[in-house]
Amino acid sequence: MADVFTQSKRSQVMSRIRSHGNKNTELALAKLFRANDITGWRRHQPVFGKPDFVFPKLRLAVFVDGCFWHSCPQHATKPKNNASFWRKKLTANQLRDKLVTRTLRSTGWSVLRIWEHELAAKNTSQLVARIRKRTNEARRRTNSRTAKTRSAS
Ligand SMILES: [Zn+2]
Repeated sequence: MADVFTQSKRSQVMSRIRSHGNKNTELALAKLFRANDITGWRRHQPVFGKPDFVFPKLRLAVFVDGCFWHSCPQHATKPKNNASFWRKKLTANQLRDKLVTRTLRSTGWSVLRIWEHELAAKNTSQLVARIRKRTNEARRRTNSRTAKTRSAS
């Protein structure tokens, strides 16, 4: 990605993106769920780390990670202007992502992180398969936990 923004413009763009999440990718995923009859998800749930989507019954948290902001291995770019600012910022994002994932897992959640690029039309059938696999796993896990609780009581 070319470093086309001035510092102030970039901060402005960044604050807009950070404060509201990325609506486009979230909406694209919601659309994908609907088109593929994937149900049981909610948005804007008060869950640690503010997942973009939550499947409350499955205790599955879904994040859509922007390729730039979350340093996707395929598309991460390193801006040349203000290089050290960006290095710190992007590293901090990665650390926060890890912390959020780890914290959620330690409290019984499954975490599914989806890259922005997986929402490209050519990748969606693979993405849907991945989502189904994870929701099925989460469902089995939830069922076995419920069964254990029942037999224990
Ligand atoms: Zn990517």
